[in-house]
Amino acid sequence: MLIEYDVVIVGSGGAGLYAALEASGAGKTAVITKLYPQRSHTGAAQGGIGAALCNVEKDRPEWHAFDTVKGGDYLVDQNAAFILADDAPRAVYDLENRGLPFNRTPEGKIDQRRFGGHTREFGAAAVRRSCYAADRTGHMILQTLYQQCIKNNVVFHYEWQVIDVLLEGTRLTGLIVLELSTGELHHVRAKSALFATGGFGRMFKVTSNAIANTGDGPALLSRAGVPLMDMEFFQFHPTGIRNMGILITEGVRGEGGILLNRNGERFMQRYAPTLMDLAPRDMVSRAIMTEINAGNGIRGDKKMDDWVNLDASHLGRETVETKIPDIADFCRTYLGVDPAVEAMPVQPTAHYAMGGIPTDIDGRVTDGKRIWEGLYSAGECACVSVHGANRLGTNSLVELLVFGRRAGQSMANFACGSEAAKPSSDAEYKIKHWRKRIAKLKEGGRHSGSIYESMKKTMTANVGVYRNGKSMEKAIEDITKLRNTYSEIGGQDRDVNFNSEISSILELENLLDLALHTTSAALVRTESRGAHSREDYPDRDDDKWLKHTLSYLDGDSIRLDSKQVDVSKWEPKPRLY
Ligand SMILES: Cc1cc2nc3c(=O)[nH]c(=O)nc-3n(C[C@H](O)[C@H](O)[C@H](O)COP(=O)(O)OP(=O)(O)OC[C@H]3O[C@@H](n4cnc5c(N)ncnc54)[C@H](O)[C@@H]3O)c2cc1C
Repeated sequence: MLIEYDVVIVGSGGAGLYAALEASGAGKTAVITKLYPQRSHTGAAQGGIGAALCNVEKDRPEWHAFDTVKGGDYLVDQNAAFILADDAPRAVYDLENRGLPFNRTPEGKIDQRRFGGHTREFGAAAVRRSCYAADRTGHMILQTLYQQCIKNNVVFHYEWQVIDVLLEGTRLTGLIVLELSTGELHHVRAKSALFATGGFGRMFKVTSNAIANTGDGPALLSRAGVPLMDMEFFQFHPTGIRNMGILITEGVRGEGGILLNRNGERFMQRYAPTLMDLAPRDMVSRAIMTEINAGNGIRGDKKMDDWVNLDASHLGRETVETKIPDIADFCRTYLGVDPAVEAMPVQPTAHYAMGGIPTDIDGRVTDGKRIWEGLYSAGECACVSVHGANRLGTNSLVELLVFGRRAGQSMANFACGSEAAKPSSDAEYKIKHWRKRIAKLKEGGRHSGSIYESMKKTMTANVGVYRNGKSMEKAIEDITKLRNTYSEIGGQDRDVNFNSEISSILELENLLDLALHTTSAALVRTESRGAHSREDYPDRDDDKWLKHTLSYLDGDSIRLDSKQVDVSKWEPKPRLY
């Protein structure tokens, strides 16, 4: 079927919904999403949205911007960090006005709590900056924005999976979409399209990410010639539930929870004397792995699955049940542990992709030299870059709101000023290609499971919190082999309707391509910065590496280039917390 829109948004997480809302006045706007909107990973966000509201203590957007730059180990584009911090209070009040039920102070203002790396007066002490709705902040954002989109006549195509993009040179013309309920393929023609497909933590074995986080947007754009930026920077959150990776929000430490090693020692005192447990995530994850590697983990035999404890029991039952109720439930359900009386066993878990589709501050896809006309991106799959080498907690939700909105506005302007969507010269050829490919997958072949497992295993073992040249070469060798065997995969399920096996085989291809981007960019960056910690190059090297990486997929390998970092305000300094 051929369908035509002015604006198409791919993804119904916080970024996609906000962009859709802003663009909806400019013409026929549709959201295409492989999930039902409220199942997007934004709904899992627990801790909060960072904004200098000054509701409980003195704060300034400039301090927020500085923390973002320093937290990102100076790889953040500082002009973008200022926009993020300056616009965050407006974004929070906008959500409040649209009905988001934030927790309140006794006087009725939006309550705020501490979060890792957020400080007052350029690092003097932790500050209360995170605006939250218990530990269900993301869930509330989705509910609020989805209602608003419905009110503004945005069309939704649920459970439609975008599998290809149509470009004439660098001009977007449309998308190829698989409708999951019928197995039908659609050609969606559009003046402009925005990719807001979220993260890709599923390339790792232990991850906080939902099953659908398979990086479809970046992967399919990279196959169409768009570079990806800073792919070597993948964040490991310090506190995932042991072995499972399910997230325990930093909000627990924001409320006063502390990390303890096997000796009951609050070890973060040794690693970050000022902020301790509220140091940025890269530092806390490294500290936990260092403790475990030194035999100070619980069980203490230096095995991969040793852990440390996160203790919130001293906060009392009332705080646990009102401020982190979902966490308390997860711990009781999955571990049989009650956080109001016992410590929670935690390990670092693959959490957030700092890298992704390179965009400017208005969501337009660009490599710094060219702009892809009509092509936009926002949210976790985009790289603006406001997170640099390490994202601060609460800054992703801010990014969705601030840059999702800007991208939506910029698409609206583009759609109003441009003629009807152009026909694509290769749409018919591509539809035929996909029809054939899906039919072939249904003829059967090798099960995808072992390839999926091997990818996750090698990524976790070799490109984890700590990495080195040898381990990453091994990962590249493994991923290359897995990409070569991918063509042997075939489905066991022949169904036309809701054939989830076919859709997950297509997702696996995306993860494999992104794993190759990540490992290749990481191997080349011979320094340690933010979440990229190399045992063989332990120091940051600003002379050589104060630059973004651009990686292009060239058949079986990755070609690398670079892009300048905006350091217009603060000179890079050593990071002390
Ligand atoms: C457990 C957890 C807790 C977190 N807590 C916080 C927090 O407290 N504060 C914070 O700032 N950040 C937090 N984060 C990070 C933050 O939630 C995410 O980065 C952010 O929500 C991503 O939003 P998004 O709009 O980019 O994408 P998502 O919300 O992930 O949505 C992606 C959308 O893309 C669609 N999609 C994907 N592929 C396709 C395709 N091929 N075709 C069609 N549609 C597609 C999906 O259907 C989905 O609607 C957390 C993350 C996790 C995993």
